[in-house]
Amino acid sequence: MCKGDIPILTHLKLTLENICKLAHEVGFDACGVAPVHRLDADALFMDNWIAQGLHGEMDYLERNCDKRYDPALLVPNAQMVVVCLLHFDRSGRDYHRRVKSMLYALDAKLREVFGDDIVSQTHQHVFCDSAPMLERRWCVEAGLGFIGKNHQFIHPVLGSMVHPGEIIINKVVPLSDKPYPIAETCTDCQLCIDACPTGALRNDVWDARECIAYATHHCLQCQIVCPFNKHI
Ligand code: SF4
Ligand code: SF4
Repeated sequence: MCKGDIPILTHLKLTLENICKLAHEVGFDACGVAPVHRLDADALFMDNWIAQGLHGEMDYLERNCDKRYDPALLVPNAQMVVVCLLHFDRSGRDYHRRVKSMLYALDAKLREVFGDDIVSQTHQHVFCDSAPMLERRWCVEAGLGFIGKNHQFIHPVLGSMVHPGEIIINKVVPLSDKPYPIAETCTDCQLCIDACPTGALRNDVWDARECIAYATHHCLQCQIVCPFNKHI
């Protein structure tokens, strides 16, 4: 159907495949979708982690916990989380700005193709490191990879050097073709644990107080040694 010479793309079905196609068009390297639900296991883990003081001075993690564990409390009528990844190589120095502008471009395409009511008209629904969202977990929920022993999200092809961004949408996407489960995991590797200069990775937890990256941003050791980053 056309209006003058401008094609109107409203014939596309709301599917994972079509959302991913639009995400790739705006430049993302990978895309997945997950149904909104409360992240009960993560809530338990994080509450315990924070109670032990392992979050160091990241006091903000003590606030907005309910919203962080359940996107339905962030955006009314939230149905699905669209998760997109951009590799470090293509994000430039100001990755926040780059990923956000790509997310807004995707948001505009989603509304154009699937209707304005696909996203909230009243609430922030585009996120990049900027709201109480457990981003790494949503990457896993969206079928994009797994969380490694270095406590980073790892995409089996792109590795861990990726920036995630999310759009919460208000319509249900059928997910029968969801690419679960991700077969690759760390198995018996522990290169990152051995390479960490401070012992911040131990006993299956990440101790932010000991992590150089948390304090200064100048350590990627546990990602550099990871075999999943070697082929990039
Ligand atoms: S960033 Fe550096 S200090 Fe922090 S866990 Fe990784 S290797 Fe250890
Ligand atoms: S270095 Fe090995 S153990 Fe660590 S995250 Fe990568 S694959 Fe997993």
